[in-house]
Amino acid sequence: MFRRSRVLALSCAALLLSACGSESAPPASDPPADAVLLGRLFDARAGTVIGRGVVVIAGERVHCAGERTSCTWDAAAPEHDYGDALLLPGLIDLHVHARPHFIGAFVPAGVTTVRDAGNTLDMLAELRATAGAPRLFATGPLLDGPVSVLTPEGPAPFDADALGTQPAITLSSPADADIVVDALAAGAVDWIKLYEQLPPDIFDAATQAAARHGLPVMSDLGTVLTRGLSGAHVDARQAAASGVRTLEHLGGAALAYSRLGGDPNAATLDPALLDVIVADLAKSGVAVVPTTANSAQFASPDSLARDDLPGADRMAADFAGYWSYLSGVVDDPRVQARVRSDQRLMQALLPRLLAADVRIGAGSDLPAAPFMLPGPALHQELDALVRAGLTPVQALQAATHVAADILDQAALGRLEAGARADVLVVSGDPLSDIRATRTVQAVWTSGAPVDLAQAWNAVDAALQTAREAQAAEAAES
Ligand SMILES: [Zn+2]
Repeated sequence: MFRRSRVLALSCAALLLSACGSESAPPASDPPADAVLLGRLFDARAGTVIGRGVVVIAGERVHCAGERTSCTWDAAAPEHDYGDALLLPGLIDLHVHARPHFIGAFVPAGVTTVRDAGNTLDMLAELRATAGAPRLFATGPLLDGPVSVLTPEGPAPFDADALGTQPAITLSSPADADIVVDALAAGAVDWIKLYEQLPPDIFDAATQAAARHGLPVMSDLGTVLTRGLSGAHVDARQAAASGVRTLEHLGGAALAYSRLGGDPNAATLDPALLDVIVADLAKSGVAVVPTTANSAQFASPDSLARDDLPGADRMAADFAGYWSYLSGVVDDPRVQARVRSDQRLMQALLPRLLAADVRIGAGSDLPAAPFMLPGPALHQELDALVRAGLTPVQALQAATHVAADILDQAALGRLEAGARADVLVVSGDPLSDIRATRTVQAVWTSGAPVDLAQAWNAVDAALQTAREAQAAEAAES
């Protein structure tokens, strides 16, 4: 271990210079550390573990991280020795639908950053103002075509006066796309989300409008289970060519396969057609957020363990009714057949996408699937990604530095000098068993330690408030 004081002492002894006495102040480029975390260290970019690692924190940032011999720090800095535990960058969930009653459950579960994939602007403002919320990137309302499953009561055109309360907005023309994307950009969204039933000309107008504002686009183009073959107009290859940054759920892949002449419901898929899709996605630079756990749970509800998730003991009962409703939907044999088609396509495409260097990001889509725990569900997605063929290292990268690259946030998802000091400490070894990400020992956000007991108590309180509100609503009706 190289503490600054020892380095100075050694150099003074070697040089025998009396001037050493005046060197007690550290150089300006090496500020006093606020905290020093010791443990094994996951180098997210290299995909390796440093046995005797250190993260030196100054303010909200990492000042130095790596082998202990490569960093120096002030002897007075508080040291947190986590022994054999593993230090990882705080995890990133790239696909959530956050709500106030569980927004506090991300951080104590080690998920320090999320990308919200569909919400009203008012709800986002509320979430952002909630103490204990994770770092939040968000898309705001979804944009869909005039026919939309999201607006069954009829089209919901853009309404400037009601923009804060609109969960989805209908785009009826390319001109609409310009108006609405301009308004959302002014509304401080970070992303634009384009949904299943946008016609191609409006879809392209929206990606171009987003590009003018420097806003990345995510697209959900539907799967076999949803409306990917029955209502969608734009397929995955078209969306990639149009410039979207992420394909959610591998949406649009079934439609692309079908348009190439294949049958996505066939028991065997044609490798040549799959290769055409993968080559086009790779060429475009698009990333994929497959939400693998979501489809795994629809194929076989409760196949991904949840009892050992952080917070499961205090949260699961609140979602039991909702989960049994969702898993009841899955019982329909027609639904099961469609889910199996999506599973086949996912299993065929993921290894090919990895081989073609298409970036795979981790997103849970919580709370949209049965038996995925809002907040900690990213741990279930990591498990599902490994079951789908990623190595544990690739799965961890999908939730750290690859996720940060997808977000274009160079200071997240890695523990390196200059990065934001978001750290997850786990006592197990997720490289040998990915479920060890659940063994949360400590969490740091922006250089500060999280009081885990206090954070979970806040989740309890938020759930209690939600229960009371629900009871009051039921009593009124
Ligand atoms: Zn979603």
